[in-house]
Amino acid sequence: MRKADRSMIPEPASLVDANGAGARERVRAVEYYAAIEREKAARQGDPANKAKKGGKKEPVTSFNFNAYKGEDVKAALEKLFHEKCAYCESKYKAVMPVHVEHYRPKSRVFEDASHAGYWWLASEWTNLLPSCAHCNGNNYHEIHLVPDEEPYSQASKGNAYLLGKLDYFPVGLRVRTTRIIHSMRKCRRSWILLARTLQIILSGFLETI
Ligand SMILES: [Zn+2]
Repeated sequence: MRKADRSMIPEPASLVDANGAGARERVRAVEYYAAIEREKAARQGDPANKAKKGGKKEPVTSFNFNAYKGEDVKAALEKLFHEKCAYCESKYKAVMPVHVEHYRPKSRVFEDASHAGYWWLASEWTNLLPSCAHCNGNNYHEIHLVPDEEPYSQASKGNAYLLGKLDYFPVGLRVRTTRIIHSMRKCRRSWILLARTLQIILSGFLETI
């Protein structure tokens, strides 16, 4: 395994520029998820919905993110990782285009249907990894266990196990979306303040990556 030092290349302009695709998308995403929180709060205040309290958690809808897969982002990731998948290190380039993978899933977390995903990291450079299609999905992979190795718990077909990063992520470090929305609402009048708030929030979360 080779260390990928992100300080060796500049962050893609589309993600870092003040008026780039990433910045514009983040503002739209803040509004989108704030609206979801408002709707959720309104439903919770409705007596007709209180009877459902304690029932199954409601899945959240997701924003249509695109900024993370800009051409300059793909080029930067391929340069940083030498055109190899960040998970299996295969040289995917000859047979498939790069998949831009989110280390922290952007739209959902497989282990928790009520988790909105780490949407505020959707276009955060340090949350992005290059991946082959297999590692970015959930497919059967041939695994040859070495002696004394613990058997895999995933579904299997012969020697193949259902593996892949997909949207899996442990949720032990989860921070509630409502807290972030609340912080951002205060800054809506000023884009500069909003950007600064995002910067602070993101830097706090990135320490946990
Ligand atoms: Zn891979």
